[in-house]
Amino acid sequence: RIIYQNRAGIGSLHSGGKIPLGLQRKGLRILVTGGAGFVGSHLVDRLIARGDSVIVVDNFFTGRKENVMHHFGNPRFELIRHDVVEPLLVEVDQIYHLACPASPVHYKHNPVKTIISFSSLFIFIAAHKTNVVGTLNMLGLAKRVGARFLLTSTSEVYGDPLEHPQKETYWGNVNPIGVRSCYDEGKRTAETLTMDYHRGAGVEVRIARIFNTYGPRMCIDDGRVVSNFVAQALRKEPLTVYGDGKQTRSFQFVSDLVEGLMRLMEGEHVGPFNLGNPGEFTMLELAGVVQETIDPNAQIEFRPNTADDPHKRKPDISKAKELLGWEPKVPLRKGLPMMVQDFRQRIFGDHKEDSS
Ligand code: NAD
Ligand code: UDP
Ligand code: UDP
Repeated sequence: RIIYQNRAGIGSLHSGGKIPLGLQRKGLRILVTGGAGFVGSHLVDRLIARGDSVIVVDNFFTGRKENVMHHFGNPRFELIRHDVVEPLLVEVDQIYHLACPASPVHYKHNPVKTIISFSSLFIFIAAHKTNVVGTLNMLGLAKRVGARFLLTSTSEVYGDPLEHPQKETYWGNVNPIGVRSCYDEGKRTAETLTMDYHRGAGVEVRIARIFNTYGPRMCIDDGRVVSNFVAQALRKEPLTVYGDGKQTRSFQFVSDLVEGLMRLMEGEHVGPFNLGNPGEFTMLELAGVVQETIDPNAQIEFRPNTADDPHKRKPDISKAKELLGWEPKVPLRKGLPMMVQDFRQRIFGDHKEDSS
């Protein structure tokens, strides 16, 4: 705590009730676990731009060096290949804990194709171990060095929700023995551990519950719906709609999420806070937006849905609005083209602007 204030150089975060953001604070040492992943790498960009020193810890399970390569050579940036399931000794002021084999789709949608060299069992265990043992280690680290700890939890803790839209007070409807439970129950345990370290050991903690997020640097073939549809439309393949396509999700652009995570870390509230875009779409509507954005002639192909697929999901973000002064700014029709441009370059290797 003292280390934190000294490094921040701006006195206590609890004074004045004002959220110090953006360029006002510089020179913190920040650990980002999972920082070579999709969300983590965008967060690292913002932290480095703000003047902080960033240590990324990643085992490259789903992350890629390419996502952070532009910081190589910057003395304020360090990349460590490490699995957070093993103990870690570093000295930092803040920990953003994102490490997680994040995409349940790795086993949920396409266990054979996506997993090239690991068995599905390995993935389940890795997800659970990372969420439980990895989170425990990072909390132990936070306790030892007096760092503030932020957990990136997920809307999956609400399961197949019986309350709509979901508020943070809702306890969820989760199948503890289902195919996605290593992910959603793993994150629920991670939330429990986080609150235990907060109450029991006085660790300063923050909990974000992140709703479906998309944007540049998303894994191309991990089977999530936005990345699937965009890659399929670009490759002139049919868009695969699972089930009847009437299930809903609410899609948030990654820059909005990063802003929310930073506000949460810098603010004075533990949470949990829903961070998501309340704009709700059925999968068929999403397919329509992808057609508008990339290829109006793209075909739609229906496929059977996966087990335990939540029927609807939409965040109630009043708490984040009120206490963090945060709300998303980028609607789907604005965010999608930015992702398409990145996907086009990665799939075809060309550097043309998206002209469609
Ligand atoms: P991602 O897969 O791109 O990033 C996760 C990173 O963690 C990867 O770089 C991966 O290599 C790394 N990692 C995995 N296991 C690790 C381990 N044991 N040790 C060290 N590193 C490890 O996923 P993302 O979309 O960027 O997600 C980031 C965080 O946000 C995750 O915790 C995820 O659960 C949460 N989240 C994301 C979404 C979303 O829609 N993207 C939604 C809800 C929650
Ligand atoms: N830990 C870590 N880095 C540290 C301090 C702790 O990785 O700097 C790990 C440690 O190995 C342990 C976990 O965090 O497995 C929990 O630590 P804590 O001190 O809370 O529990 P204890 O070690 O007393 O069981
Ligand atoms: N989905 C789909 N086609 C795809 C991939 C997913 O219709 O190619 C559906 C999936 O069944 C689910 C929704 O899209 O109802 C969101 O799936 P995703 O895996 O992206 O996120 P999550 O289920 O974790 O919210």
